[in-house]
Amino acid sequence: MKPQALLHPRPEGLYCPVGDFHIDPVRPVARALITHGHSDHARPGHGAVLATRETLDVMAIRLGPDFAGAAQAAAYGATVDLGGNRVTFHPAGHVLGSAQVAVEANGLRIVAAGDYKRAADPTCAPFEPVPADVFITEATFGLPVFRHPPPGDEIGKLLASLAQFPERTHVVGAYALGKAQRVIALLRAAGYDAPIHLHGALRRLCDYYVGRGVDLGPLEDATLARGARERFAGAVVLAPPSAFAATWIRRFAEPMAAFASGWMQVRARARQRGVELPLILSDHCDWDGLTGTIAELAPAEVWVTHGREEALVRWCALRGLPARPLHLVGYEDEAE
Ligand SMILES: [Zn+2]
Repeated sequence: MKPQALLHPRPEGLYCPVGDFHIDPVRPVARALITHGHSDHARPGHGAVLATRETLDVMAIRLGPDFAGAAQAAAYGATVDLGGNRVTFHPAGHVLGSAQVAVEANGLRIVAAGDYKRAADPTCAPFEPVPADVFITEATFGLPVFRHPPPGDEIGKLLASLAQFPERTHVVGAYALGKAQRVIALLRAAGYDAPIHLHGALRRLCDYYVGRGVDLGPLEDATLARGARERFAGAVVLAPPSAFAATWIRRFAEPMAAFASGWMQVRARARQRGVELPLILSDHCDWDGLTGTIAELAPAEVWVTHGREEALVRWCALRGLPARPLHLVGYEDEAE
């Protein structure tokens, strides 16, 4: 059996003809397998969705309870039969509930990793290496220049700034699903135990993480009464990226604009957003993470989905490993 007969790209996304399902389709389809809850992967309007319990819950929180015609939960490691294909979800280490999808038929196994990372993250299950004949990898940070520093060092920069500027409100931009909770968990791991204040757009997902057993410590709303600008002096306030585009952060006393993203390694991106304190924190693999994972799994073939595909394809080719870009479109950098 050729791998392309088991899974191949279509405009809607990766498609399995025998099982008649798509993985992370970008348009409404009859049956969708969803790797995680970020909005470019988890879209509304599918006939049926198969995903982890957490991903289904996150979709309901973000899209409303009627996000799909039907929803079925897949536990990590449990195999589901779809038209004679064996489908198994494995942890991807990207955000809470994120999964790789292993599709198996006639002794051939393809693993679609979705978005994934190898760095430690106390807010989700770690990436599980799954032996694969074909490994499908993302390439968001698929260039040798991308090297993510240790997360503890980046959080250390935030703590040092808090100590140096105790009169300033440290407003940290972070995406609502995954990044915000990871920033909080990293602060707690570094011993920061003061209340952390949340923009309203982050509250439901933070509460959901807490409900799933992720300890985030004391969280309070960042609501400001009139004339109380000083109330958050010296505090940490977390806000979604949209609040940075708006005038929201200017309501605080001497705001220190911090931003947590893998893209903060690119100085121009930090400047564009008016970020004073860039924190290089990514929920994706950096170059070493991508190439290290491929070397570890040693698949017979590599397919590269969204991101900077060409450098990774070339890296594989130089090692005699067949690789090709899938040119899937519709996946943005939303989660970063
Ligand atoms: Zn993602």
